[in-house]
Amino acid sequence: MKKDDCIFCKIAAGEIPSQCIYEDGLFKVILDLGPATKGHSLIIPKDHYEDLFEIPEETAAQAMVLAKRLSARLMEKLHADGLNLVQNNKETAGQTVKHFHLHMIPRYKDDMQNILWKPGEVTQDELALIKETITG
Ligand code: AMP
Ligand code: ZN
Repeated sequence: MKKDDCIFCKIAAGEIPSQCIYEDGLFKVILDLGPATKGHSLIIPKDHYEDLFEIPEETAAQAMVLAKRLSARLMEKLHADGLNLVQNNKETAGQTVKHFHLHMIPRYKDDMQNILWKPGEVTQDELALIKETITG
């Protein structure tokens, strides 16, 4: 299923140009146009799902298998030193394109990027309360 005004639906359909590094019946994988690092790629399902909450479990699982396979290739071909998988959902979490996608970001020593977060502080009691909220 496609959405008319969706840029990633158009890329998946080949209506907007992209540098495609992999394609099959379900996914198109392209180089990001605003890369965090060399080789920053996006795994895009060809069908339109807005985010993690909409994508079917089976498709999400297939995206992760593809990420594992292509990440190894990026590491090897680009001589990367590490790799981040990033997947943003909703504006608050940094999602700018509302069509599910999984970022593969190769990392290089001294690439000066910062995809990590500043650790907060929490007590065991606070953790226990949060656990109750999630599991209760
Ligand atoms: P997110 O912030 O997780 O929604 O990521 C959206 C990503 O899509 C950003 O990294 C953009 O650089 C990338 N992007 C947006 N438009 C294009 C495009 N036409 N071709 C390739 N990447 C794109
Ligand atoms: Zn779409």
